[in-house]
Amino acid sequence: MAITRRDFLKYTAVAGGALLFGVFDLDPIKAYAEANPPVWTTEALSVGVYCSGGCGVIVGSVDGSTITGGTAGKKYVVYVQGNPDSPINGGGLCSKCASSAQISTIVDPTLGRIPNPERITTVKYRAAGASVWTDKPYATAINEIAAKVKATRDANFTETEGALTVNRCNGIATLGGSSLNNEAAYLIGKLNRGLGVVYLETQARN
Ligand code: SF4
Repeated sequence: MAITRRDFLKYTAVAGGALLFGVFDLDPIKAYAEANPPVWTTEALSVGVYCSGGCGVIVGSVDGSTITGGTAGKKYVVYVQGNPDSPINGGGLCSKCASSAQISTIVDPTLGRIPNPERITTVKYRAAGASVWTDKPYATAINEIAAKVKATRDANFTETEGALTVNRCNGIATLGGSSLNNEAAYLIGKLNRGLGVVYLETQARN
């Protein structure tokens, strides 16, 4: 179902009202959060995952043996906060990165903290013309993408134009996304310029 902007505003107002008047029972989650303040055993410094702002974050994680349904020996993120030493955000975070620990784990009112069951851990692949999605490992997808890039580049490479050497590939275009940071955009630029790609947009204003 397509949701219009008007629908979205209506649903937001209804959900806000429901929260305000206690239609949703958040008490079990509140009680769990109060009884189980975030505790982490490993800490790492990183940057925000949702935009190219590059806010500094402190990421707290625990071993999987300590959470329901976790795998021992594997780390799970349970807490993320802004890094007060970062010159970019000085410890603040917007709501997106402030909730980014939920990419790894969530709190179930009954089971407590569990690995996020909605997290996608495989590549979703749909063959051209097919209607069914299948799971593929990342290694398979990366090899397939690399083979297609090489084939497309070989079939669309122009070495010279008249007396000029142009080394240009017009058969590939690259689009980036706003979560790319400066370093990622630099590497994508290097790779594509090396391939001769001229239709290059990283969305990072580099
Ligand atoms: S906290 Fe907000 S502004 Fe900062 S990196 Fe994350 S999404 Fe971007």
